[in-house]
Amino acid sequence: MPHARSFDTPGDQRVLIAGCGITGPVLALFLRSCGFEPVLYEGREEPDDAAGSFINLGPNGRSVLESLGIADQVLSAGEPTTRLVFANHRGRTIGRNPERTTVIKRGLLNKGLRDAAEKAGVPVEFGKRVVGVEQRGPGRVTARFADGTTAGGSVLIGADGINSATRAAVFPEAPAPSFTQGVGSGGFARTRGAGEADGVLRMVFGLRGFFGYQVLPGGEVYWFENHTEPEEPAKGWAASITDEQWRAELLRRHAADHRVVAGILRATEGPIGRWPLYDLPSLPSWHRQNVCLMGDAAHAISPHLGQGAALGMEDAVVLAKCLRDEAHPQRAFAAFESIRRPRVEGLVQRARKTGGHMTPNGPVGRALRDLMLPFFLRLSLKSADDVYGYRVAWDAPHRAVAR
Ligand SMILES: Cc1cc2nc3c(=O)[nH]c(=O)nc-3n(C[C@H](O)[C@H](O)[C@H](O)COP(=O)(O)OP(=O)(O)OC[C@H]3O[C@@H](n4cnc5c(N)ncnc54)[C@H](O)[C@@H]3O)c2cc1C
Repeated sequence: MPHARSFDTPGDQRVLIAGCGITGPVLALFLRSCGFEPVLYEGREEPDDAAGSFINLGPNGRSVLESLGIADQVLSAGEPTTRLVFANHRGRTIGRNPERTTVIKRGLLNKGLRDAAEKAGVPVEFGKRVVGVEQRGPGRVTARFADGTTAGGSVLIGADGINSATRAAVFPEAPAPSFTQGVGSGGFARTRGAGEADGVLRMVFGLRGFFGYQVLPGGEVYWFENHTEPEEPAKGWAASITDEQWRAELLRRHAADHRVVAGILRATEGPIGRWPLYDLPSLPSWHRQNVCLMGDAAHAISPHLGQGAALGMEDAVVLAKCLRDEAHPQRAFAAFESIRRPRVEGLVQRARKTGGHMTPNGPVGRALRDLMLPFFLRLSLKSADDVYGYRVAWDAPHRAVAR
């Protein structure tokens, strides 16, 4: 067991965590292991383990789960990706990246983390959608839920995602999420045309969109697509069209690309997810009195680097260390923000830039991209090491966070 907890709020070790998504349960597990009493309050009425598409979890995220001793168990529902291979729209390989990651269905990652938290004795309450927060002096905070109930604790952590109600309640001045001029899609297919399971996540730079896929043992194909969309879709757009309409749109968009893309789109079973892509502009502050934000609630990043979940997990270990090692929550929150902000905000910018470069205009731009990509990939391996190689030692004092 690491250090004894030095948080000196008299009597109350209860940490309220809004959101049992990806980062909330990871934080709860660390806090539980050093003597706090975290409780997870989840807005959904019940678990939905089939929800969403899939996540590619970087080694920096995996290492956080390893320090909790739950990586193998939680990620057993996923499959390793042993390298990335990039192709142009004709299917010609133009670059490789040897990064090892894990692909896992989002709902199963969520279930694995939630199960691990419950097994460690962390209560998880569903149907508890935070709608208001009252700060009642040092070490006293109350969360108000949509069902009319309340819960009190010494601190409240907002791990309730990009549209965080905790953020809205405590930081009314915070900027809203910003549309990144991109739309993402994803789904699961079965087609022999996508090849054999070989651990490779293939990325196709299509003429009008970027398409990624991996064939898993058993033949299921996990795929995603991102493309540029200058106008922000209206609220409710995704629900206003059918899966078939969206499949037809994606088929039109990728009609001139390598036939594997259309084959996967046609063979997709079940829903075809579609999401306008947002990130979060820099917030003036991540904490106020007894409340602190983490994960997407503090710094949502567009998916082009595949890093949001891993960064939220890094947040969890750093925030737990700060609460463990600092005597007062406000000091812990300030230390957490000062350690984490430079890294995550740099990556939010980088992800936006990467998204903007995925579909260059015209044949000259594409030829240049095909020529330069191997060079840029070699260069980016160095900077990828900053992204994927980041490690946080749970046993070390909180100031010694990065490897
Ligand atoms: C299309 C897409 C693809 C992505 N791909 C990747 C990827 O490949 N790799 C990667 O690392 N990241 C990826 N991300 C980012 C990743 O999904 C997020 O960064 C990550 O889910 C953030 O975790 P979180 O716990 O902060 O928020 P979430 O996972 O969003 O969890 C928030 C939880 O809070 C709950 N909640 C919401 N409101 C309330 C409320 N008022 N009260 C109580 N509970 C509430 C929600 O129901 C949810 O369970 C992707 C994101 C998108 C949009």
